[in-house]
Amino acid sequence: MVTRFNDLYHPFWLSEWLFLAFFNVPLAYMISSENIGSSSPAVCIAPPDLESLFVYLRNQGYQLVGPTLQNGAIVYDELESTADLPVGWTEEQAAGEYRLKRRSDEAFFGYNVGPHSWKKFLFPAHQKLWQGSKKSDGSFETLEENKPNPRYAFIGGRACDLHAIQIQDKVFTGGTYQDTIYTANREDNFIVAVNCGQAARTCFCTSMNTGPKANTGFDIALTEIIDDTNHYFVAEAGTGRGADLLAEIPARPAEPEDAQAARACTEKAIADIERFIDTTDIKDLFYRNYESPQWNELEKRCLACGNCTMVCPTCFCSKVEDTTDLTGQHAERWRSWDSCFTLDFSYVHGGSVRSSVKSRYRQWLTHKLATWIDQFGSSGCVGCGRCITWCPVGIDLTQEVAAIRNSDKENIDG
Ligand code: SF4
Ligand code: SF4
Repeated sequence: MVTRFNDLYHPFWLSEWLFLAFFNVPLAYMISSENIGSSSPAVCIAPPDLESLFVYLRNQGYQLVGPTLQNGAIVYDELESTADLPVGWTEEQAAGEYRLKRRSDEAFFGYNVGPHSWKKFLFPAHQKLWQGSKKSDGSFETLEENKPNPRYAFIGGRACDLHAIQIQDKVFTGGTYQDTIYTANREDNFIVAVNCGQAARTCFCTSMNTGPKANTGFDIALTEIIDDTNHYFVAEAGTGRGADLLAEIPARPAEPEDAQAARACTEKAIADIERFIDTTDIKDLFYRNYESPQWNELEKRCLACGNCTMVCPTCFCSKVEDTTDLTGQHAERWRSWDSCFTLDFSYVHGGSVRSSVKSRYRQWLTHKLATWIDQFGSSGCVGCGRCITWCPVGIDLTQEVAAIRNSDKENIDG
């Protein structure tokens, strides 16, 4: 159920970036859901009235996407109504393990994160860049796609994933050249965040300062309060248009006890978290440890399957592939997700730069936690835990960091 591992081809970075440069758009392009510190008071929404929120957004022209139950996992897809949400379901996660489980209640958002992230909508796994055909006079014409970009409303984004979107914003729109596809998909997104009331066993957002409560990047944040006698949502607006929405749907003002219940929800999620990373000096830790013996240990276990990169909400590598039909009349150029775990990824004329699995795992982890900081000004990891859950051999990033830190300490202590 994890997204497409078998189509990992050559990375043609140069042609991709030439394309992106050619279709460059101004940096000032509007990206929505930047919080403006809306001061509108929180409100409480009864579960049946959540449908009004969906209807409001649809009437505003948004395509709603969010969690659905499919193929044994909670994955993101189009939502027609709240009936499409995985009501009453949760999941159990551990290193290399994911299982759906029925809850004892009818919570709408009683789970954490599955194999999908929002990048599947903003930076699609497969995207046609252009197509062209030969004309009868022998000349060549480029055909327009003419596909309108959806205005996405993301329903149920978790705090860690909102941080992941902001990281990808920097990657795709924060430099000299902007990715036109990402920018178009990201334009005018409406984000309904959900604050986690529980943590999966693989979560470590508190170590990365990315959760479990959403503090930025949303239009509305919901906290689901559910116990033996109550079931409702505490909703706060993060933007003016979020406040406009909350003023239009059935809701009652939140009382101090509702705010306290929402805080208790976040405290429970924090208390649930089992995994941690010591991020002290982490960039230099990795820069000191290119030759750590831990990379040899990892090589014995890592399959170089690339699952960790496919499920990661911040990984952004891609390849570009040209195809023609058998008659030679029609050609297409596609962009697809790629992974630094493939041998082809670092292929330059004559061979692959990273020929060993050890060098590829080291590249991935060092980029996530160290070089990303130099490149984009933040960590490339938001602590969502997906790479731990979906690694077929259960390699756990938090344990690997601890092992590298231990061997580093032994080196320093002599
Ligand atoms: S760490 Fe796990 S998921 Fe990532 S490439 Fe290695 S085996 Fe695959
Ligand atoms: S590296 Fe792993 S834990 Fe960190 S953001 Fe990516 S998938 Fe999540």
